[in-house]
Amino acid sequence: MFCPVIELAQNLIRCPSLSPNDAGCQALLMARLEAIGFHIEPMNFGDTQNFWATRGQGKTLAFAGHTDVVPVGDERKWINSPFEPTIRDGLLFGRGAADMKGSLAAMVVAAERFVEQHPHHSGRLAFLITSDEEASGINGTVKVVEQLMARQERVEYCLVGEPSSTERVGDVVKNGRRGSITANLTIHGVQGHVAYPHLADNPVHRALPALQELAATEWDQGNDFFPPTSMQIANVQAGTGSNNVIPGELFVQFNFRFSTELTDQRIRERVAQLLDRHQLRYTLEWNLSGQPFLTEKGELVDAVVDAIQHYNEIKPELLTNGGTSDGRFIARMGTQVVELGPVNATIHKINECVSAADLQTLSRMYQRIMQLLLT
Ligand SMILES: [Zn+2]
Repeated sequence: MFCPVIELAQNLIRCPSLSPNDAGCQALLMARLEAIGFHIEPMNFGDTQNFWATRGQGKTLAFAGHTDVVPVGDERKWINSPFEPTIRDGLLFGRGAADMKGSLAAMVVAAERFVEQHPHHSGRLAFLITSDEEASGINGTVKVVEQLMARQERVEYCLVGEPSSTERVGDVVKNGRRGSITANLTIHGVQGHVAYPHLADNPVHRALPALQELAATEWDQGNDFFPPTSMQIANVQAGTGSNNVIPGELFVQFNFRFSTELTDQRIRERVAQLLDRHQLRYTLEWNLSGQPFLTEKGELVDAVVDAIQHYNEIKPELLTNGGTSDGRFIARMGTQVVELGPVNATIHKINECVSAADLQTLSRMYQRIMQLLLT
């Protein structure tokens, strides 16, 4: 049976849009939105294509998402070519099917149905679409948000279509995300011959007790919305490759996923205090990739919960776990931000897939959220 959501999702999957290449996806979306009366504004920056599309005036409900996908991995391991969408046993296969071309199709078709029913809806319906969420993201949503803020645009509600669900569409929605900050730490020593350790200063030996303490530290206990902050050492490098040389430096990279109980400033201070206590000579560089955000109960959360219960008769869990998303940039505008999308079990994997029925349900949920907030 013909389904406009699946058809559009398939057309999007056929565009090999490896970040930050859009490969024609946005042209498809813009044409569909323009046809139902949206004002379209491309906002391209550097290598990244973005657009902002609006229809109506006033209180704004924006749908946000990305057209880019992650690399396919070993293409021979896919049962079908990753950019040739296929349906088997009710599952739509292809790179981006779940993350997040299926959601984009569900949003656009929801807007088409909503506008047909409510050509004179109240408020403003908007789309914020980028072609770089999966790679650096520096010219994507963050730049569009800066532009919108510079001209004092207000966005009250934003629904991000990232795949939030675990087993059934709508069983989990994300109403916040943890912050993420990375430390690049170099411990300095003095290189020398292993046979003459008194003439050298081994940075690995010096660093081990500090790293042990770093790994054992409880940073916070989380709160009602966030799990406890977690620190993970991701990379460690030292040594010349030779068994008779004491290395001169040790490099350690570690990342924090942090709750709203902490700030990035507090993390920086605590790490510096710890290293100083161990009397290390070090260089420490920080890279903050996202502040935590939280959307507490309010009109948007209520509308999302209502739409999920209406179509799936389940009460969604509101969670803040998982990776960061572009929701963190949009939340800077004072916007209520919620992520609702399909099941994420296969995202970024070989043979990525999504339930075709779930995508159709998701589209109905999006349409109901539009109805609840804009009529
Ligand atoms: Zn995504």
